Amino acid sequence: MVWKLKQRQQKWLEGEKGTVLKDWGGKISIALAFPNRYAVGMSNLGFQYVYCALNRFETVVCERVFYPEPEDIALIRQTPGSLLSVESQRPLLDFDLVAFSVPYENDYTNLVEMLRFAGIAARAGDRTTGQPLVAAGGVALFINPEPLADYLDFLFAGEAESLLPEFVDFLKQFENSSAPRAEILKDMAKSVKGIYVPSLYEPVFKKDGALDSIHPLAPDLPERITVRRADLLKSDPCRTSVFTANTEFSNVMLLEIGRGCGRGCRFCAAGFVYRPVRYHSAEKLLQTASFNSGTNRIGLVSAAVSDHPEIASLCSSLLDRGGSLSFSSLRADSIDSQILSALESSEHHAVAIAPEAGSQRLRRVINKNLSEEQIYRAAELLAQKGILNIKLYFMIGLPTENGDDLEAIVALAKGIRHHVLSSSRGKTRLGTVTLSVNSFVPKPFTPFQWTGFAGVVDLREKAKWIHKALARVPNIRVHFDLPKWAYVQALLSRGDRRVSFFIDKVAQENFSWTRAMRSSPLNPDFWVMRERERDEKFPWEVLDHRIERNYLWEEYGRALQEKESPECLPGGNCRKCGVCGP
Ligand code: SF4
Repeated sequence: MVWKLKQRQQKWLEGEKGTVLKDWGGKISIALAFPNRYAVGMSNLGFQYVYCALNRFETVVCERVFYPEPEDIALIRQTPGSLLSVESQRPLLDFDLVAFSVPYENDYTNLVEMLRFAGIAARAGDRTTGQPLVAAGGVALFINPEPLADYLDFLFAGEAESLLPEFVDFLKQFENSSAPRAEILKDMAKSVKGIYVPSLYEPVFKKDGALDSIHPLAPDLPERITVRRADLLKSDPCRTSVFTANTEFSNVMLLEIGRGCGRGCRFCAAGFVYRPVRYHSAEKLLQTASFNSGTNRIGLVSAAVSDHPEIASLCSSLLDRGGSLSFSSLRADSIDSQILSALESSEHHAVAIAPEAGSQRLRRVINKNLSEEQIYRAAELLAQKGILNIKLYFMIGLPTENGDDLEAIVALAKGIRHHVLSSSRGKTRLGTVTLSVNSFVPKPFTPFQWTGFAGVVDLREKAKWIHKALARVPNIRVHFDLPKWAYVQALLSRGDRRVSFFIDKVAQENFSWTRAMRSSPLNPDFWVMRERERDEKFPWEVLDHRIERNYLWEEYGRALQEKESPECLPGGNCRKCGVCGP
């Protein structure tokens, strides 16, 4: 029956352009694993970049592995060891290292299941000589590695460009070595900056359940793991390396134009853990874009694409070459004539903007720095260019939110509808305003790390109220996420190692999340709902992003006082958050 799985993978390979097929002889073999389906993984630029970067090392052969397609899961469960790499269709047990790329917390259980499917012991402590090393990296783990700590031999705490060369050199020394895995891991933790080996660190909890400390178990290990940043000026931009029709972005070359965001929105972890904001030069981006990918569609990717200092010239040069552009994100306050022409000539009919909160007051709390006038103006400009479908992102359950803020979401949606419809008159199509309303999850390393999650019942009530208020308004659609999944995300992003109890139940015993939570001696609300004291230690602080805790606390205070903070503009003498310090 395994031939069925092989057949599927063969089909994927036949539909790809850019696959790297390498001979294994004398190389370090790495299975780069994505804990979700092929189509999701292949749409992820970080995953694509690491695949390409690892294969650039002559000493490495890197192949991809994905979470099985739904129709294959039963078969894979019945046949231990049947999870195979895509390229050579080998079992994961054949590899030296299985390295997961993990962008989302809700995929943690898939990661543990994949180990099971591969016949690899799920818990790091149960692995024996002969089993591959198991590691992970990715933004979810930069934010908090602790919920997965017991499953991983080590973690990549840092950006691939800076960490991989040293790591590959280190691993090369151990080729054909019979050194015990514990020794290799200890050596790696000491000699490769940015590698975190959780088994060498012990968490200690107080009687009330809060964390007391996480301390290293050997004197020569760092107290905290400094997360490594890449110097983008010296690195090549990330771009799609393997093209396939089986992705959300088929026939689009994704191109990362910058990393991080300087706006300092207080809910956004990426705006803090990727500081300082860095950009690739337009010159380098144009060189990368001239790669013969077989498509002229380019998707510009960054936390805030329109903030790139050379965005106007970059767009016009790409358009002059006959390209068509799409943007991963646009800020309402930076939609100007150049961006509009790029959108128009690329024939966009829909654009997303993210007010995040309905009222000006709540936008000050989250430091969105966006006025109602700017949002209306953006909608108007887009509509005038014939872009009549606008998607609006909002969050509910934000700190200090009240009934007026919910009413303001409804009013803003109606106001935008009015602007779009006024500009649609006389046109053959009517515009649609689509609201995407998501539950706020307080994330580590943000000023809101001290606050609690709003709660499933509260969020459901709020969603119901918004739904009712907009149900009869024509040309407005509203989509909500499911608060119960946001609760799970909060548990996995704010938890410590004890959260592995729930992961085990779901991934190893096939419990539903509800059943796993009911069967737990520990109440998950402890991690999810609890407002933290100022001095409470956080499990995620085993990582050091160089962001000062005091700075985040001050920002939290400013949020509660409804005060905005200025943008982070690297390059000067700013020492505000600590990241650019000496
Ligand atoms: S120190 Fe200043 S410029 Fe540097 S990342 Fe922090 S806020 Fe931005």
